[in-house]
Amino acid sequence: MRIFAYRFPERNKVPDFAALSYLLRITAKYELPTIRSQLLEVIHDGYPETFEGLAPSKPLGENIFSGPIPHPNEVLNLFVQQKLTSALPMAYYMAVRRGLDSLMVRRLPQYTILSPEILQLAIRGLMMLREMELKETHRLIFGSKTSRPCSSQNCSSHNTTGPRASDARQMIVDQIMDSSQSGTKVLQVLSLGDVCGGDCHGFCESCVEGWEAEHAKVRKKVWTALPDVFGLKG
Ligand SMILES: [Zn+2]
Repeated sequence: MRIFAYRFPERNKVPDFAALSYLLRITAKYELPTIRSQLLEVIHDGYPETFEGLAPSKPLGENIFSGPIPHPNEVLNLFVQQKLTSALPMAYYMAVRRGLDSLMVRRLPQYTILSPEILQLAIRGLMMLREMELKETHRLIFGSKTSRPCSSQNCSSHNTTGPRASDARQMIVDQIMDSSQSGTKVLQVLSLGDVCGGDCHGFCESCVEGWEAEHAKVRKKVWTALPDVFGLKG
């Protein structure tokens, strides 16, 4: 059997995508559950099953593979075909986060082209995620005074009388949404310094840090909703 031509990757080391595809197909065809479960283990590094698996310092999705980085559509197609149910929510997310052009890409190799069924689920999910991202971001920036009270008198949050404070908040929401372009960044750790380009419309460090910390709740909420968002439940 040709499988032995491949040296199985060391434990916790991710093979390149072509080798992974081949090994997954072989382990399904010849019923090799031990090797298959080892493969699934390394896959879950990049496509975690739990929110806690989304460590900001870790590479995610297609970035875990050694060798050339596959297109996320290609990974999604493989995972659907191989019925890797627990990795699917993240695989869909990775495919939709770059937006519609990437989902509907029409270039070779052919396996980057999504079937109409997958495309429909992906586009519907992307729309839902963008809606959630907007709603939750708005709630985050306008809502609760965050867990940290603001003690800086110069902070924009103390301009409660005029329209200026809410204008400034709205600009932050707009900038966060713009940074997602036509995709979504809702599961990415929020860095308002990057989003606003330094000065965050006069909000103090404590307010900014408070929002960034609270954003973890947004990520967790969205993460939990992913199977629903992509129609993977029931
Ligand atoms: Zn403040």
